[in-house]
Amino acid sequence: MTEAERRSALEAIADEVRTCTRCRLHEQRTLAVPGEGHPSTEVMFVGEGPGRDEDAQGRPFVGESGKLLTRLIASLGWRRDEVYITNVVKCRPPGNRDPQADEIAACAPFLRRQLAALEPAVVVSLGRFSLTTFRPGERIGQAHGSSRKASPASGAEGAQAFAMYHPAYAVRDPRNEATLFEDIGRLPAALVEARKGRTGEATPRPEAARPDAAVAGAVPADAAVPAVAAVPAVAADAQAPDVPALAGKARPEPSVGARLGTSLAAETDPADSLQIPLF
Ligand code: URA
Repeated sequence: MTEAERRSALEAIADEVRTCTRCRLHEQRTLAVPGEGHPSTEVMFVGEGPGRDEDAQGRPFVGESGKLLTRLIASLGWRRDEVYITNVVKCRPPGNRDPQADEIAACAPFLRRQLAALEPAVVVSLGRFSLTTFRPGERIGQAHGSSRKASPASGAEGAQAFAMYHPAYAVRDPRNEATLFEDIGRLPAALVEARKGRTGEATPRPEAARPDAAVAGAVPADAAVPAVAAVPAVAADAQAPDVPALAGKARPEPSVGARLGTSLAAETDPADSLQIPLF
């Protein structure tokens, strides 16, 4: 698929989402939240469902959790418009309650079509509902910061599923921020591995272009963090000689969070039993 085809597929899905009445969540929504991001990205973030701010604006992760997500992405030298961000359910569960199984099932075809349009190398699950979609049966307390093959049933066949706590986990208790920053610091290496596993990438993305020129300086030339949307895998070979090919690159520099020190990942997996509030 060309970039234009991916963009138009995503727009068609978004149009359907905005008028969807497949489940009860449409009754109380202000705006549906289809998702947004770069059509040629290799990295897709999937949260749980829109909160109050997202419902008001029709855009994903624009509240407190979203601000943290944007900082997490920026800690890698990436920008949120270089990745794609969406949710398991596209309409706000009233009162930020958990999405119910039939609501997730009703919305799943949209997510599957977004996955088919984007063909991401890595899907980053944010929180336990998204984790269950891509890595059924796993617990967030054990899975966070790790990458596994995504369940084919999710529609992300061929992609790696990288698990993270939901940003709300740290919004509620900022001591958990270090864990999120530490975890996302492992994402670039997971992307490099995912690329290696996709030798038969169905459609190269020669048209991928930075969303705007400002990004050209966003990732230093010697950074060990692969670009996600701007530079297709093939372009890595064309980098300056002092920048090794991505496949040979060392682990990225520790992120801000990792440098902060101690991981707060609790041995007792507190997040497993927490209701993740949606903002
Ligand atoms: N929480 C989510 O899971 N998704 C959003 O879009 C916002 C908050």
